[in-house]
Amino acid sequence: MFAYAGKILRINLTNGKITTEPLSEKLINDYVGGRGFAAKILYDELKPGIDPLGPENKLVMASGPLAGLFLPAGGKLTFAAKSPATNSYGDSNVGGHLAAEMKFAGYDMMIFEGASPKPVFLYVFNDKVEIHDAQKYWGMGALTVEDVMKNDLGREFEIATIGPAGENKVKFACISHDFGRQAGRTGLGAVMGSKNLKAIAVKGTKSLKIAEPDKLLELGRETFIKCAKHPAYKVWLDQGTAGVTVWSNQQGSFPTRNFQSGSLENYEKISGDVMVKETIVNNKACFGCPMACGKYAKFNKNGKEYFVEGPEYETAALIGGDCAIGNITDLSYGNYICDELGIDTISGGNVVAFAMECYEKGILTKKDTGGKDWKFGDINAFEQIMNLISRREGLGSLLADGVKVASEKIGKGSEKFAMQIKGLEISGYESRKAPAMMLAYMTCDIGGHHNRAWAITHDIQVGRDVFKGKSKRVIELQHIRPVFDMIGCCRLQWVELELDLNYYPQFMTVSTGNKYTFDGLLKDSERVWNLTRLFMIREYNHAKGTPTFGGKEFGRYVDYPPARWYEETVVSGPTKGSIVSKENIDLMLDEYYLARGWDREGRPSQEKLKELKLA
Ligand code: SF4
Repeated sequence: MFAYAGKILRINLTNGKITTEPLSEKLINDYVGGRGFAAKILYDELKPGIDPLGPENKLVMASGPLAGLFLPAGGKLTFAAKSPATNSYGDSNVGGHLAAEMKFAGYDMMIFEGASPKPVFLYVFNDKVEIHDAQKYWGMGALTVEDVMKNDLGREFEIATIGPAGENKVKFACISHDFGRQAGRTGLGAVMGSKNLKAIAVKGTKSLKIAEPDKLLELGRETFIKCAKHPAYKVWLDQGTAGVTVWSNQQGSFPTRNFQSGSLENYEKISGDVMVKETIVNNKACFGCPMACGKYAKFNKNGKEYFVEGPEYETAALIGGDCAIGNITDLSYGNYICDELGIDTISGGNVVAFAMECYEKGILTKKDTGGKDWKFGDINAFEQIMNLISRREGLGSLLADGVKVASEKIGKGSEKFAMQIKGLEISGYESRKAPAMMLAYMTCDIGGHHNRAWAITHDIQVGRDVFKGKSKRVIELQHIRPVFDMIGCCRLQWVELELDLNYYPQFMTVSTGNKYTFDGLLKDSERVWNLTRLFMIREYNHAKGTPTFGGKEFGRYVDYPPARWYEETVVSGPTKGSIVSKENIDLMLDEYYLARGWDREGRPSQEKLKELKLA
């Protein structure tokens, strides 16, 4: 077998049994790797209706065939499980060096089953795989514990960890790696915590076989040079995704004060330029990446020196804009707090913003906040709320379940401004003047997330008040972008440096020895998209009549955005006054379902499933 390591590692944390199994050709042919492997394993192996935080759930860590190879940015890794945030399929992608290291140790994928009776970590050094006691690490912050474990095991180990939020099963806890990289979305850190699994430490010294190594070397060299010569290369190297902050504010798409507005006053104070001048001390890259979009920063707060990777754009949007933390020191500190507690900055920022709006509207009062002001812009309030959440203390325990559950319990109209879709808090784009972006959020298979289809540029290109025809580009992107999560590469070299998509099937062909085309990869991606939809439908229909999804069976209502986006206009900034009507939302959904070969309730037709080899 070329490019793949050829083995799956299965770890049962209940009984301590560790086994390996060969990677099957069928899995490779139909699901490629990464997100494709994870979706297939979870669909086949999880019974509908299981508790995402119970031992029946499984946590999958899957690399792709291009991870660890000589080509631009083959360092991406997928974590996946049934999500505690959405009660459906959840995955999240992380960069860093763990995907490559896992393959060098001899494994394409690890599957964690059951739950350990006490805190443990997994130790992997090539064929030596052991479950070790993690009592001494339990309670440590995610950044701290990675450093302590590297000191204990050897700095060359690549480590994924959780912080206190994961231990306490906060439903938006993340899995952390490489001092500031996170598999942030869908609460997979809580799944790890529910298994009493504090960390996964991997060291590998094996090599991978390549079908045509000379050709891969040639292609790799050519594409690295292309990336470095692109005019946007320097901006990306200087600022990373923080360069998007100014643009997003100018477009009126920067979520501000819990998505009430699309632009933060004085947004320049948290821009990439300010970071370059004031905080960035070094660049950080994932395995094999020429862009190094990670910005390692140093700042002082309360007389103490801190280091943090970021803030990258999403963190700037959800903590900087949405909580209105409008200066670079406080924003960096908010980023640090989340990273150390092991909280996804997107959902975390969104939850704090929701709580601040509840306070602003008098829905929550000082009786609820312990006498404190929870005002927008107050970093002390942000820190207090995050600490309560991570410890599940007082009101923090309610907020730790995410804005959907919290708003349903708090009531008083707060459901309307709980900015989530399918239970996952919406990421960094206010979309009332960006219908394609809104549709992308509505139909994303893990809930309100942007990375499956970053469609806002399409809105800007073809018209921000145009609704008809938007679904075509959204679907195209929903197939193209997840290909990267399947092959194990970062997509930013394509998105930002215009690396031709046709390089990727070439990489696949010369690495694996099998012939690939981009169209073929798109078909595989569409298969995975429909499989995760089937997963969701199965969960909803299984839970019908129970409180899990409000008792209802699956239908198009699950794809609607929060009421704020169709009942309230944007209050300020360049998109002031914008709104998308319910009629236009339905128009876009009708068009989207039809183009996908789904029925009016958003269920894949038998013909579509047969076409994709899913029926
Ligand atoms: Fe990692 Fe950024 Fe490079 Fe992508 S562009 S591989 S996220 S460093």
